[in-house]
Amino acid sequence: MGRQVSRREFVKAGAAVSVAATAAPAVAAESPTVLVRKATPPVVIASANGHVFRNGGPRTCVEEAFARITAGEDVLDALIAGVNIVELDPTEMGVGYGGRPNADGVVQLDSCCMHGPRKRAGGVAALEGVRTPSLVAKAVMENTDHHLLVGGGAQAFARQMGFEIEDDLNTDSSRAEWLEWKRRIDPGHWLDPEKRSRAGAAAREAMVAEGRLDPESRLGTINCDGVGPGGEICGVTTTSGLAFKIPGRVGDSPILGAGLWLDGDVGVAGSTGRGEANLFNLCSYLIVEQMRQGRGPRDAALEALRRVKEDTVEQRLLTPGGEPAFGLTFYVIARSGEYAGVTMWGKENGREKQFAVCTENGPELLACESLLGDFPTA
Ligand code: ASP
Repeated sequence: MGRQVSRREFVKAGAAVSVAATAAPAVAAESPTVLVRKATPPVVIASANGHVFRNGGPRTCVEEAFARITAGEDVLDALIAGVNIVELDPTEMGVGYGGRPNADGVVQLDSCCMHGPRKRAGGVAALEGVRTPSLVAKAVMENTDHHLLVGGGAQAFARQMGFEIEDDLNTDSSRAEWLEWKRRIDPGHWLDPEKRSRAGAAAREAMVAEGRLDPESRLGTINCDGVGPGGEICGVTTTSGLAFKIPGRVGDSPILGAGLWLDGDVGVAGSTGRGEANLFNLCSYLIVEQMRQGRGPRDAALEALRRVKEDTVEQRLLTPGGEPAFGLTFYVIARSGEYAGVTMWGKENGREKQFAVCTENGPELLACESLLGDFPTA
C-alpha cells in the first residue's frame, strides 16, 4: 500500500488540481464563454474493497483500472476490468461470485455502468448465474436501446450475449452463512413481513455476537469511478446486495442516479451502504447536481448525507440518539480530478471507513470524511 495521506492533505491537493484545471482563459466581455478542456491527471477511486481483493493475482481493482487507463484503454473498460477482480474473488462475499445469497439461498446480483463521453449507460438487477454482472451491464449499454434489464430477462440476455450461466454462484462460505441464518428464522413458516424482518435482524445480530458473521456482512458492494487523461469520466457499481434479502429485492447499486451517476462535464458519484436510504434521495444524481452548482466532491456528498439524515424518521432506523443507524458512503470525483470518500459514520464496529484511490502516486486507502463522526458504541 502506498503512503497514507491525511484527509487535509488530499483535500488540499485535490483543490489545487481543481483550481488549475477549471481556470478559464481571459476573454473579452462580449465573447461567448468557451469551455476549454484541459488535461486531467488520471485518477481511480473505489470503495475500500477496491484495494483489498486480488483474486490471487498481482493487482487490486484500483491498481488494475489505473494501469489500464494510463496505458490508453477506454476508461469504462478499465474500471470494469478492475471490478471483475473483486466480482470473481470468492473471498469477497458482497460482490459477484460467492456473494451472499438472498433469503432463498440464491445469489442475485445487481450492477450498472456509465460512460461519460459516450453518454451511455446500462444496468442489470436480480441477475442470477453470471459471476460478472458488470460485464452484462456493459453489454446492455452497448447492445440494447435500454438502460436496465432484470431477473430472468437479464439472464436470458446474458445467455444470448454468450455469457456462461451457472446454476449456483454460492461458495461453501456463502451457503454456510445462509444455512445458519435460515435455520434461525424458522424456515417452516412465512412470517408476516414485519415479524420476518425482525426475526432476520435478530438472527443476524446473534450471529455477529457469536462471531459467526462479520459485523459488516449485511452489505457489500464495489463502486469504482475514474477520470482519464482527457477528462473522460466513467463509473461502475456491482454488488450481491443486501445479505439474505427478499428474493427480487433490488437496492440502489444498479439504479442510475442512486448507485451511480455521472455527467461527463461535471463529475461522477457512486455509493455503497444502505440502498433504501440512497434510493429515497437519488443521492448520486444529487451529488453531481450539487457539483454542477459549484460544490466540491466532499461538500456535495455531505449535503446528500444531510438529506438522508433528514429523511430518516422511522424509529427502527434510528440510533438511541435519533441519528441514522446505518452506513452509507459516497465516492465522488469532479471532472477536475478532485475526489472524496464521504460517509455517514466515520467508524462503524470499531473500523474506520476507508476508500481506495489510485493516482500516479500509487494506490492507497484513505479515511472517509464523515457526517456524524463515530457510530455510538453501546
Ligand atoms: N448498496 C447495496 C444495496 O443496498 C449494498 C451495499 O452497498 O453494501 O444493495
